[in-house]
Amino acid sequence: MIATDLRSGVEQLGDMIAHASVIVPFTGAGISTEAGIPDFRSPNGLWSRNRPIPFDEFVARQDARDEAWRRRFAMEHTFAQARPGRGHLALASLYKAGKIPAIVTQNIDNLHQASGIASDHVVELHGNTTYARCIGCGKRHELAWVREWFDRTGYAPHCTACDEPVKTATISFGQAMPTDAMRRATDLAQHCDLFIAIGSSLVVWPAAGFPMLAKECGAKLVIINNEPTEQDEIADLVIRQDIGETLGPFVGN
Ligand code: NAD
Repeated sequence: MIATDLRSGVEQLGDMIAHASVIVPFTGAGISTEAGIPDFRSPNGLWSRNRPIPFDEFVARQDARDEAWRRRFAMEHTFAQARPGRGHLALASLYKAGKIPAIVTQNIDNLHQASGIASDHVVELHGNTTYARCIGCGKRHELAWVREWFDRTGYAPHCTACDEPVKTATISFGQAMPTDAMRRATDLAQHCDLFIAIGSSLVVWPAAGFPMLAKECGAKLVIINNEPTEQDEIADLVIRQDIGETLGPFVGN
């Protein structure tokens, strides 16, 4: 059912939250646009500017790695300045109230952790762009180290431990999904009574399978997104409104 307006959406969501004991939020890039981070598919989204670099290109070509890091550094100011928005803060309030065991996110911006959710309770399906990892041995590298290497040599770095390429700790198109995060997200979707998809176009798979899975396992499904998604028809409530406006009333409750 689509909420007729913002007020009725907030009221119905409030009732569903009050009656739920285990709520699992599933977030996408739309929850972070209020924080100044562009999403992928909106008119000003990142896709309108740059074609994503698939994983096999990153592995195969130094120039693709250089370009990937140039793009990442071009976004550094945006990521470093971003602070949690009302959506993040509302979820943090419900987490502190004991209603949310963990958040499943497609986002890579670290803003759920910044809002006060323990890192162990943020299940990152697509990784995290605020640090880097070697694609060979998995060693963590900090962005300041990558930057220093890049500025000194003009090239994207190789791991100091095993000499394989170093990449932001994110999952690119064509890269294997993180097994542990997928297992935890599956378990959370299967064992909640309210699943809330927030700010996702629900077109990136396999992540987009989780709202459907939660619904199949008996949870009520709410979708908050300012444009239609393919899963609206199976949702118990669709709120086609701004996320900050919709979740703002739940901050601090
Ligand atoms: P998406 O860009 O495909 O979809 C975002 C959706 O949010 C769109 O439908 C858009 O209309 C909606 N939206 C944007 N701002 C909104 C607002 N204020 N209120 C309501 N709706 C709003 O994003 P996705 O589904 O998360 O998939 C994109 C992939 O790109 C993700 O897997 C993620 O890894 C990555 N990504 C992450 C970030 C981030 O970490 N902040 C940003 C861009 C892309």
